[in-house]
Amino acid sequence: MHRFFLTKNFQETMDITGPDAHHISKVLRMQVGDTLQIVSLDQICALMKIQDITSEQVTINLVEKIEENHEPSVKIILAQGLPKSDKMDFIVQKAVELGVSVICPVAMENSVVRLDTAKGEKKQLRWQKIAAEAAKQSKRDIVPQVMVPTSLTQILNEYKDVTTKIVAYEVEDKRSLKEVLQKPGNLTDILLLIGPEGGISKEELELAQGAGMTAVSLGRRILRTETAGLAAIAAILYETGNLGG
Ligand code: SAH
Repeated sequence: MHRFFLTKNFQETMDITGPDAHHISKVLRMQVGDTLQIVSLDQICALMKIQDITSEQVTINLVEKIEENHEPSVKIILAQGLPKSDKMDFIVQKAVELGVSVICPVAMENSVVRLDTAKGEKKQLRWQKIAAEAAKQSKRDIVPQVMVPTSLTQILNEYKDVTTKIVAYEVEDKRSLKEVLQKPGNLTDILLLIGPEGGISKEELELAQGAGMTAVSLGRRILRTETAGLAAIAAILYETGNLGG
């Protein structure tokens, strides 16, 4: 079943326009009477039937609202040290599939890529589009937000109230991710910081720890930046019962 995120509040009859209308009519070649799923701006998920279709506009009617929830119970905010080339595309796509809520690219000391404001905004648009597609494909109930690249200080400040704050640190050999996740208490929201290819500098680690982040190990092997985040996200989801049952 195809799923579309609409930028309007729910109504029993709605019109889909723009690229989605083109996609439904020309690419999927759907017809009057076919059904599709929508998620409205006010986050109502529904099965809708096509009443009328042109390449510019698809009119749909409510069949039934869908109550099931595809979202994990834990809100994961991935703060990802800006990686090289198009690795961020991959990270955004996979992190959204797995179930993160927010992705914040972070310009870090060892990030090779430097983005000025204009380039950063352009990249953000691209990543947000990738996030929307991944959300659609994986049947998320929300489109996770990808922020414009920002500094570590800003991230730490913006998410200071998050209950569990973790920095994956390859040098850490005492505290494991498992230990932190198995601490008593509810895991409701987690800020997860992953360094870029060159790793996290000592100053950055101190800054993160000063803001209440706990350094954790992801195991004895050094993972590439794009592997580290996804492995940690999968572990968090597993530990909280949001992956694999
Ligand atoms: N500094 C390293 C590699 C960095 S790996 C070097 O150049 O040799 C990129 C990021 O992935 C790290 O900053 C860390 O956040 C995460 N990471 C990779 N392997 C890890 C591990 N075993 N434990 C914790 N974090 C890890």
